[in-house]
Amino acid sequence: MMDRSTLYVIATPIGNLRDISLRALDVLGSVDMIAAEDTRTTRHLLAHHSLAGKMMALHQHNERAAAEKVIALLQAGESVALVTDAGTPGISDPGAILVNLVRQQGLRVTPIPGANAAMCALSASGLAEPHFLFYGFLPTKAGARKRALEELKLQPHTLIFYEAPHRILDCIADLVAVMGEHRRITIARELTKLFETIHGCALGDALTWLQADANQQKGEFVLLVSGVEIQNEPGMSEQSQHTLEILLEDLPLKQAVKLAAEITGENRKVLYALALSLKEKSPTE
Ligand code: SAM
Repeated sequence: MMDRSTLYVIATPIGNLRDISLRALDVLGSVDMIAAEDTRTTRHLLAHHSLAGKMMALHQHNERAAAEKVIALLQAGESVALVTDAGTPGISDPGAILVNLVRQQGLRVTPIPGANAAMCALSASGLAEPHFLFYGFLPTKAGARKRALEELKLQPHTLIFYEAPHRILDCIADLVAVMGEHRRITIARELTKLFETIHGCALGDALTWLQADANQQKGEFVLLVSGVEIQNEPGMSEQSQHTLEILLEDLPLKQAVKLAAEITGENRKVLYALALSLKEKSPTE
C-alpha cells in the first residue's frame, strides 16, 4: 500500500534490467502515476518485471509543466513515482526541479535507492583514494571543456566524469593535454551490459588503448581520473613543502597557505591543494 501524497524518486537499472530493488518494483507496481523520462523505456522495464502502470512524460524539456501536474496529483492524495531512463533521477538527469517544487509545497519526497553509473564504476575501479568528486558531463565544446578541466586540475580527489561515445576520444585527448600523461584513468564502459569493460591505465596510454579497437569507443562511459599528487608535481621543492607543513602545524589552512606563498614564492593554488591533501592525511591534527 502506497503512502498518499508522496513522490517516490526511484533508481532504475543502468543496463541489466534485474538491477532494481524489490521495493522499487513494489512501488512501481502500486503508485497511481509514474512520471517517466521516456515512457517507452519505462514500459519496457515494467513489462520485463510483469508490471504495468499509468504513465506521464517528465523530461528535461517539460519538467516545470509536468511538475505542476505531479503536484496537483499529490495534492489530490495520489502517489507518484519519478524514474529516468537509467540510474538515479536527479544525477545528470531530470528530477531536481520536480523534487524542489514538490518539497516547496510541503509534500513528501521518498527516495528509493539503486543503480548509479558513477558509484557502480567507482566500486569496481579499485581506486583507493577515499574522496571523490563527481562531475558528471563535461562541457561538449572543446574550449569550455578545457577550461573546466583546468579548474579541476589541482583537485587531490578522484574525478568522475560521464561521457558520450562520440566525444570519448576528444575528451581523453583534452584530459591528457590538461592533466598530463601520468595520472591513472579507469575507463568503465557499458556497465552491467553484455560488453562491459573496465580498463585501468596511465592517462597517456588511454587513447592508444581506445584506438586499438573501435568497439571500445562505443556505448556509455564513466571515466575516473586520479587526483593530483602534489608531492610528485614538478616544480614544488622539498623546502617549500616543509615550510608549508611547519606553518600548518600552528596556523589555520588559509593563513598557512598565504604565508607559505609569500615565503617560498610557490603558486598559491598549488600550495592550497597540497595543504588540503596534507590535512586529509592527518585529519586529527
Ligand atoms: N542518472 C544516471 C545515473 O544515476 O548514473 C546517469 C544518467 S546520464 C543521462 C547518462 C550517462 O551516465 C551516460 O552518458 C554515461 O556516461 C553514464 N552511464 C549510464 N549508464 C551507464 C553504463 N551502463 N555504463 C557506463 N556508463 C553509464
